[in-house]
Amino acid sequence: MLRFAFLSLLFASTAFAWGPHSEIAQAALDAMGPDDLLAKHLGADTKRLVQYVWMADNRQQLLSKGDEVFYADDVLLFPAATKHYDHLCPAVQQTYSPYFRRALQALRTESPHNAARWVGSLLHFTTDTGSPPHAASISGPVHSKMENWLNAKLIHIPGYKPQLLGSDDASAEAGFIRRMEGLIDFSKQRAERCRADVEADRREPVEPMVLESALETARVTADLLHTLGVLTAKGNGDSTLKGKVIAPKLDHPQLSRLLVKIVLRDTLYSTLASEDGTFSFAPLPAGEYHPVISAPGVVKDLPPVKLSAGSSIALDAVDLSAKTDGNLLRNPDFKLRWVSAEGFDHWNSRMPSGRLGGPKPVREWEGEKIPLQPGITNRLTVRWKSSAPAAEAPEVFVLTKAKPAYDSPPTDSAMLTPGKTELTVTGSADAAWGQVIIRTRGAPDTHIESVSLSATH
Ligand SMILES: [Zn+2]
Repeated sequence: MLRFAFLSLLFASTAFAWGPHSEIAQAALDAMGPDDLLAKHLGADTKRLVQYVWMADNRQQLLSKGDEVFYADDVLLFPAATKHYDHLCPAVQQTYSPYFRRALQALRTESPHNAARWVGSLLHFTTDTGSPPHAASISGPVHSKMENWLNAKLIHIPGYKPQLLGSDDASAEAGFIRRMEGLIDFSKQRAERCRADVEADRREPVEPMVLESALETARVTADLLHTLGVLTAKGNGDSTLKGKVIAPKLDHPQLSRLLVKIVLRDTLYSTLASEDGTFSFAPLPAGEYHPVISAPGVVKDLPPVKLSAGSSIALDAVDLSAKTDGNLLRNPDFKLRWVSAEGFDHWNSRMPSGRLGGPKPVREWEGEKIPLQPGITNRLTVRWKSSAPAAEAPEVFVLTKAKPAYDSPPTDSAMLTPGKTELTVTGSADAAWGQVIIRTRGAPDTHIESVSLSATH
């Protein structure tokens, strides 16, 4: 459902999109009111939740709007959730604990804007669960009708008093999971009751049942947000780590504004810098931290920092603007493995369909989706490792599409194999998006030193 400018890049899972995510989030916020602790903490960023509630449907997408450009995966993947989950029960139930904790962490240590993004990821899984076909694990044509046959304008819960799901982290998380189990029962019952009517294409008797699910989902959402607000103040740690990064200069309308990511190696901490490059983690528990900066074309390890209790450390500003090789790819040399030691940050691994056999299965490592400007020629460059074994060498190419959607038909460029180091791809209406793909039976860094995709003007 494309109802916000922000969502102009939302295509990923629309086939299975429960329509009223935004209305449910808004109804919950209305019931909480402006004096709720969460709304006070997020301030002006509270209203962003109504858009960010779509976050998990935007997986692998570049989100680009007026005041921000970032990849949704920066607030979907982290060391406690290293892959994308399905949004139907039972798979979606695995998201509750890790995203609840991560959202709470963001509320306590990151800017309200970043916290709103992570809360949005959690809210997506929460609100999707309440959709009758999601709760009852129904896919196929019934799914879409069942979850969209309602008038979203009717989703309001005036007078509802949000409940505290627990007064400390552990009891609140357990209370949230119990509340979700109750929501699943609630919506599953409605799915079973309306299924025959959906199959017979009778919309009228279905609508009130789907609305009941949407209203209960709004109540659960209000409880969750209210609880997060109460817990936010109960964080531990009183140290601060802050800094500033000047991003690499890129001649690219969107990626020149991509928010720089900062992770603290071997921890669950990460954040996106503001548009002016500043970032902070506050409060953090005392300890030693290893900040790493990730921006297009560069992963930069900063010296370790020792934070003692109550201290505040401002790192020296890091200026990456002299790095002008124009590479649009993040983690181009595969050095960043913060999300998972089995993977490479900013690269998504998947099994291509119809390619079986061999001692090891073929995998495709997909780089992030890059908007290609019409008429601009981009150069893909691979630096091969000279010491690499000749066997099982990868093929590297650029997959282009008219739209970033999964169902937009792809076109493969020519292939680079060891010995070949360069090819070009020109942006056009049919090639408006490009993704570097590394097809290999091993890990990409066995044979490849680094990959670059950059405009040639
Ligand atoms: Zn979804």
